[in-house]
This record gives sequence, structure tokens and C-alpha cells, in this order.
Amino acid sequence: MSRSPRQVQSWPFPKENMANALKVRPSLWAYVLLVLLILPRFVTAAETQASGRVDVILWFDTEDYLLPADDDAAKRLAEMLTEKGVRATFKVVGEKARVLEQRGRTDVIEALKKHDIDYHANYHSVHPTPSEYLADCGLLDGMEEFIRREGGGAADVRRIFGRDTLACYGQPGSSWGPQTIAALAQIGVAPHGIPTYVDEGNHIGLKGRPFWYCNALVVYDMPPNRTRFELHVPQALEPGKKAVTEINERLKAQGGGLISIFYHPCEWVHKQFWDGVNFSRGANPPRSQWKAPPQRPIEETEAAFARFSQYIDHIKSLGVRFVTASELSTIYPDKVRSEGATEDEVREIAEVLASPDSKGIDFLVINGKSFSPVDQLEILLSADEKKVPHGLLGPDGAGPTAGEGTVQKIDWAAFETAMKDVRDFARREKRVPARVFIGADAVRPEDFLIGLARANLDKTKSGSWPSEVMLGKNVELLTAQHVAKDTPGIFGGWVIHKEGFRAPKILEVARWQAWTLKPAMR
Ligand SMILES: [Zn+2]
Repeated sequence: MSRSPRQVQSWPFPKENMANALKVRPSLWAYVLLVLLILPRFVTAAETQASGRVDVILWFDTEDYLLPADDDAAKRLAEMLTEKGVRATFKVVGEKARVLEQRGRTDVIEALKKHDIDYHANYHSVHPTPSEYLADCGLLDGMEEFIRREGGGAADVRRIFGRDTLACYGQPGSSWGPQTIAALAQIGVAPHGIPTYVDEGNHIGLKGRPFWYCNALVVYDMPPNRTRFELHVPQALEPGKKAVTEINERLKAQGGGLISIFYHPCEWVHKQFWDGVNFSRGANPPRSQWKAPPQRPIEETEAAFARFSQYIDHIKSLGVRFVTASELSTIYPDKVRSEGATEDEVREIAEVLASPDSKGIDFLVINGKSFSPVDQLEILLSADEKKVPHGLLGPDGAGPTAGEGTVQKIDWAAFETAMKDVRDFARREKRVPARVFIGADAVRPEDFLIGLARANLDKTKSGSWPSEVMLGKNVELLTAQHVAKDTPGIFGGWVIHKEGFRAPKILEVARWQAWTLKPAMR
């Protein structure tokens, strides 16, 4: 049976998506009623699959290369967690790894090696930071610049910690950019071959659940499933424990999920962040003038370790499972990448895209498989050959806006030529073209995809391609709505960036890459 959009999006999306999904055309109400009758069966299946298991990812941005006490704090944390049987995710800054090597701290390196070793930029807060150097870049030059500036640091962390790959990357402060995610494999951040990103921020997200973006598995924008307590406030521990308990209960009731908790080892020992002391609001003193931040009295550090130990013991007592970045791609396997789409799923994708009531192009979840807009494009392009989609990037530019004279209804021969051209572009460039040519005219890839879906449906129904194809007209890429709007705080809120620093182009490139966005499924 063919499924209606109601069923396609029924689980596990938040309520607002449910509301949208319910707006189906009247002729679909018969389907909807039928679906309502069989829905409980699907929900049960989904819950069984997730088995209500709650995972906790505990990650540490290991970045203070100025205060030597941070070396000891990192070691002590790593050893404490090892003793408790908890593996954590240590995101190490390139210069921090080099400093540990120069200071001869093989003891710290060995303690950290019992955990995931990850990456957190080469110099973190030395200007230009990633968002500063990406601010005027497009997709491709931005990826190149990220590789040029951060690749050496990643190689140092790999060498110093003896790893073939680092388990994830996450940006310094709010210095985010889609180009960094797209380039992770090229700097050696791809456990089991899957680029992985773990951090916190609100540039893009699906509000508390991991997702795929730029072909990387991403843990980001995790509230309401992100939590922590203030280490140095004695009264904060009990509310902190209660907060984890509550998230755990809620997620269990929802069929399982992931809790994200992060700290910095330097928080145990410093009075002020090392980078705030040196690089605030665009300051960029030479290395000779870098200052270590003021250190906390030993008693305060000891009390914070004691409280954190109790916090971890409490989380362990909840029966959750601690996971690390390198495990994420096995917990959230991308079945579309391994299995492709069945005939029914191809038809489902085409039906949803071609629906007259469609508001635009969105990700789809069918049979527990998650299809990004780019997956849908790849699958429909190769529907005849049943190829598994490789995972393209989004376009490197904005497509042309369709105006009065823009071609919409085109002959099959011209459409077929365009199909071949898009296929060839995708194979060579590994991304969606920003412009699809119909002879001399360029159209947006979104409008082309709708035409492709309509043509596929005709072929499925009648057994042959149509004589004419109707393209979409200025069809919206709905997944781009999950990219943040440009606000003064989105980049400028980080104290290291200059006051008033804005980077709207980074968000524009991010919206083009929303072609690749889809929820990660367990
Ligand atoms: Zn950091």
C-alpha cells in the first residue's frame, strides 16, 4: 500500500511537524482514516526499534594551552571516568596536543587515550577564527580554507595521540560554518568512514535530536536534551542531578534518545577562560604576550571534582548508556546509504514531492529510513537503476528565481537531456547543481526536482515517461527553515568575536546545504 504524507511523517517528529503533516488534501482523507487505524502498529514498531534506551554523550572541549594546571585537570577527569567505567569524548585543540607533547606530559596523553580523541580546531581563539575566515567564503573555497587552516592541527592531534582518525570535530565558541562539516573527512575526522560533528549551538538543528547534514552525523542544538550543572556552585548539584533524571524519564517515554553533556577541563582550575584573557573582542596579541588565566584555589578545584564525581555516579545509577562520538554512526546508521530505496519508497518520495498540496521540499522518514532532499533527488535520478545514493553536498550558490518568462512545461527530450546533465554533474562534482539547464534556460534545482518527481510518477502509473514535464515554480526548500536567521548574537554573542560581528553569508551557504539535512534514525 502506498502511504500518505500523514503516515510518512508520523514519527518521531515534534508536534509542530505533525500539525503540518495533517494538512493533507481532502482526497487523501480516506488514506488518513485508514492510516489512523493502523498507526498504533507503526508507533509500536518504532518504539521497539528504539527500545526506550537513553544514551549520554559526555564531551570535553580540551583547549586551554596556556594554564599548565589544565593538563592535570584533563588527566584527572580522564582517570576518574576510566575508574568509573565511563568513556568520554575529549575534543583536543591542536595547540593543546602540541603543548602536552612539549611539556613531556605523556601521562596526560596516555590517560586521555583511554577515551575518544576528537578535534576542536588548531588554535581555537587566535584570530581569524573559523567564522571570521569563512564569513565571505562560498562552499568550495570555504572548505579549502578550513582544510588549509585546521588540517595541520588535526594531523598533530592524530600523531600525538596515535590515532588514524579523530572521532569528531566541534567548533570553537560560536565559530560555526557548514564548510567545516563538509570538509571533516578531508582533515581526518571520520570514524568508521563517517564524518561526525559534536558541539552545541543554534546555527542549525532539529531541537534535541541528532541529524545528518553535509553527509556528517551531527549532534548539535540539543536542548531540551542538553544539560550540565555549574561545577563551582554547591547548591547546583542537586538540581543538576534532577535535570538529568527528568530528561531521562522523558526520553524513555518517547522511545529513547540522546542526552548531551559538555564541560571543559579548564573549568575545574581557572577563574576565567584562557581565551577571554587574551583574545576577547578581536584582540590578537603575539604569542610572546599570551597570558595564562588566573587559577582557582586548590580547595575549589577539589570540591568541584567531588561534586562532578557524584553527578556522574548519579547519571550511572539511572541505567543510561554512556556513548562516545565514534559510536554514534553505529547507533544511528544511515540505512538509505546502505540499502537505498525500495520501489514503494521511490513511489512514496515521488508522491509526496508531486502532491498538489506540497508546501515545498522536506526530508522524509519512511519505514524508519530518513531521506534528505538530496537523497530524494539522487534516488529519483537513478530510479531505473536502483542505485544507493552516495550523498551529495548541496549547491554552491543560489539558483535563479523563476520569473514571468521562465520555462515551466518542457518536452520530454529536453527534460531527459537535463536529467542526464544533472546526473553527470552529480557524479563529477558530488553536489547538487545550483542551476539546471533546459537548453539556454537555467532553472532552480528545487523546481527541477518537482518535475522529476512528476515524471517518475507518470512512468510508474503508465509504464512510460510523459511527453511533457511540468517543472515546479520557485519551490521552497523547507529544510532550510532549520537554519538560524541572522541575528546579532548568532556569531557576535561569543566574546572572542568582535563586537557586532555578523556572518550572514555563512548562514546562506548553510541554507544551500539544507538539501542534505535529515533526522538521524536509531
Ligand atoms: Zn572551545
